[in-house]
Amino acid sequence: MPHRFHVANLPETGLVTVDAAEAHHIIHVLRGSVGDIVELFDGCGLAVSAEITSVRRRDVELRIIAARRDERPACGIILGTAVPKGDRFDWLIEKATELGVTRIVPLVTARSVVDPRDSKLDKLRQTVIAACKQSGRNHLLELSPVTTWSDFVKGDLAGHTSFIAHPGPGAEPLSASHLSAQPTIVFAVGPEGGFTDDEVSLAIAHGAKPISLGPLTLRIETAALALAARFLLD
Ligand code: SAH
Repeated sequence: MPHRFHVANLPETGLVTVDAAEAHHIIHVLRGSVGDIVELFDGCGLAVSAEITSVRRRDVELRIIAARRDERPACGIILGTAVPKGDRFDWLIEKATELGVTRIVPLVTARSVVDPRDSKLDKLRQTVIAACKQSGRNHLLELSPVTTWSDFVKGDLAGHTSFIAHPGPGAEPLSASHLSAQPTIVFAVGPEGGFTDDEVSLAIAHGAKPISLGPLTLRIETAALALAARFLLD
């Protein structure tokens, strides 16, 4: 795979100028020079093969050689998740992007301890772009604003086939019958302290099925990625 760079508002033909962080990457990290071929993608499905025609101090000009457009995958996953501590959320976002999760909604729940501020979400968007560059994904994973549990339940969760990861009585193991072709599936993962009974009841009242991921207690990011892998790779 050629080196890939993210360019919003990418045209399908003609010349394109790349500046800012991606130009820095081409000029100083890749040490790109005239004639080199790279791939550019816009994060909305368009990817182009392009030849460097000029390297300047702060920007790079390229000529588009060929364009292709990836359709959005037919099956989409929306993951609502409590936010793990430290850089484990960054890791979750990176791996969820690689696996093909459509959108992540960072949740505030009764027992949540981490509430990422907007600036942190901006940094996480850079993680999404880096994972798309590396994996060949041409649609960016969408990162929603921080959302309360009740708003998530009444919005995304109520509107789709949905599952709440919650071990205990009444939780079914995740099985193939859950994976029947649905255009969009929503799943929810709680904080290290777990969901409260009220939170689980609210989700069930809005149509979510409780599911178990086995007898062991998984960390937030392990539970989230186990679910994503199960739905997306089967
Ligand atoms: N102390 C909590 C565990 C929290 S683990 C408790 O006893 O409930 C963090 C989150 O990961 C949980 O809220 C749940 O959404 C998910 N999770 C972890 N292990 C799981 C399992 N075995 N089955 C289903 N969900 C699990």
